[in-house]
Amino acid sequence: MRNKILAAAVFLTSLTLVVQAQQSLDAMIDRDIASLLTTYKMLHGAPELSHHEEKTSSFFATQLRTLGYTVTEHLGRYEHPDWSGYGVVAVMKNGAGPTVLVRTELDALPVDEKTDLPYASKVKTKNDAGQEVGVMHACGHDIHMTTMLGTAKMLAEMKDRWRGTLVLIGQPAEETIDGARAMLRDGLYTKFPKPDYTIALHDSADLEAGKVGYTPGYALASATSVDIKIRGLGGHGSKPESTKDPVVVAAEVVMALQTIVSRENSPLDPAVVTVGSIHGGTRYNIIPDEVNLQLTVRAYKEEVRQKLLAAIERITKGIAIAAGIPSDRAPIVKISETEVTAATYNEPQLTEKLATVFRKALGDENVVHIPSAMASEDFGYLSLDQKIPATIFWLGAVDPVKVKQSKETGTPLPSLHSALFAPLPEPTLRTGVKAMTSAVLELMKSP
Ligand SMILES: [Zn+2]
Ligand SMILES: [Zn+2]
Repeated sequence: MRNKILAAAVFLTSLTLVVQAQQSLDAMIDRDIASLLTTYKMLHGAPELSHHEEKTSSFFATQLRTLGYTVTEHLGRYEHPDWSGYGVVAVMKNGAGPTVLVRTELDALPVDEKTDLPYASKVKTKNDAGQEVGVMHACGHDIHMTTMLGTAKMLAEMKDRWRGTLVLIGQPAEETIDGARAMLRDGLYTKFPKPDYTIALHDSADLEAGKVGYTPGYALASATSVDIKIRGLGGHGSKPESTKDPVVVAAEVVMALQTIVSRENSPLDPAVVTVGSIHGGTRYNIIPDEVNLQLTVRAYKEEVRQKLLAAIERITKGIAIAAGIPSDRAPIVKISETEVTAATYNEPQLTEKLATVFRKALGDENVVHIPSAMASEDFGYLSLDQKIPATIFWLGAVDPVKVKQSKETGTPLPSLHSALFAPLPEPTLRTGVKAMTSAVLELMKSP
């Protein structure tokens, strides 16, 4: 009996501590929310394209330095000679314990913002091809950065509640899926403490602000870009018999590629083969010499990806042979070495553990299981092929009223990357800071 009373007392004390901790976290967020909103709106109005995150990274680094972190800038090495690495690594050591890495992205997209918000981006710049483009945080990486800065402040102020080494990174070039690799190549895990856990969040354009979502196991697919050059023998449009028409071959290839997923791949292994671009020819009466296709290939498992890529090459070359294209004009199938990213695998145990933490912090009704998607991220690289437990969770960002309307009317909400994507800042940031801070405190809790 005495033991039971003791156990009940211990339970109640720990429950009280949890409740108190949540209350103090809420109070700290209340105190900081106005300044976080200002930061968010400032970042939203000043987006920079991938590989050009100069001012964003410098602002981000300065903020973290002010909070007491040891900050290194300019981490990241690309193969492209003109690009600089704008990666930021902020470290805070706080005694013996696990090393936890939290990642945010820094880059924005070449999208002309059409939200009409008072703080909408009006930024225009030249892209790498020299074209003038609008720039917008249409993927919400400004939400992620602001959440990270809020979390960084909480954790710096609560050093009595965690032990270990905290590594916060600002990753450039996520949209072009080469930033994580550029940071790893430049010594993210050799010059800085290698993490025991890696976590991140991404805002969701479907989920209500105030909620978070989690996906144990494969969450996002691998993505591989493929270029196909179909070469024929051009000539006069009125004399097809003296040509080998690459337009007809390209049309057949596009249709035949659809049979890879439907006929060659197991229906139990998700896969996508999309031809996103097709270009060839100049006018009505000329049969061109070549047609160029651009594909994106998605899969979860590496063996499935390999099979898809092999089938693309086999089918394309086979159709060219059937069309009588000579072997020295065979199609060239090029698998990109840079526009490629691994699947994102959320280590199930870690993911479930954090989902439990989120339920405690946000309430059961605000934590939802989200099905996997075929979109892609380069966060997966930070797990070093699933050797480091990693998880990325979804942060609801949409006005709940709009989600309800969309469900009732069937009108889809603006997606991520849309010129109309407009997260509801305050509840999103509050929830993001609370969820991320709670997650780190759980993984690094002091004994
Ligand atoms: Zn994006
Ligand atoms: Zn994104």
